[in-house]
Amino acid sequence: MTNRIEVADKLPALPGEVIIYEVDAENIITRIDASWKVFAESNGAPELNEANVIGKPLLHFVSGNVTKKFWINLLNHVRTSGIAHSFNYRCDAPNTKRHMNIKVAPLDAGHLRITSTLLSTKPRPLQIHFRRAQQRTAASIARCSMCNKVAYNKEWIEAEELNRGLKTTLDVTYGICPVCHVKIDL
Ligand SMILES: [Zn+2]
Repeated sequence: MTNRIEVADKLPALPGEVIIYEVDAENIITRIDASWKVFAESNGAPELNEANVIGKPLLHFVSGNVTKKFWINLLNHVRTSGIAHSFNYRCDAPNTKRHMNIKVAPLDAGHLRITSTLLSTKPRPLQIHFRRAQQRTAASIARCSMCNKVAYNKEWIEAEELNRGLKTTLDVTYGICPVCHVKIDL
């Protein structure tokens, strides 16, 4: 999962498109819906084919320890409260800002249904590819999993504000910025 262009580059492009999947009580992916299959096939994302996704832990597809911890808390919170939880986040492609919503809803026996909906897109004048860095180094940049801002000089800014040129690749490690931390506090 390291040093390759991210799965996010291949997600749906049209507002209103949804991806639905389900996990069991152990957070193992048990079901993906037809839209997932269509987008995996039409976007040449073999790593997301049904055979590679069903039976895998959901956390296998989440980067960064802080983000993983957030997901575990969120899934457990929905199970114990029995109430669906949703929030907005960003899932950008290199030249598109994508505003998404995710909803986690409880099912029977600790199973959960996760619905991800594309709300809107906005073009980005620069093409910025994000690559997962294996570990934090002097060259890597922290990126927020929720709002997609990057850390620079103790501030969190849009990646294009780094002014690294018209087409660039950034090596990033994933975390959650302080603003999003407050927003998603369960
Ligand atoms: Zn953030």
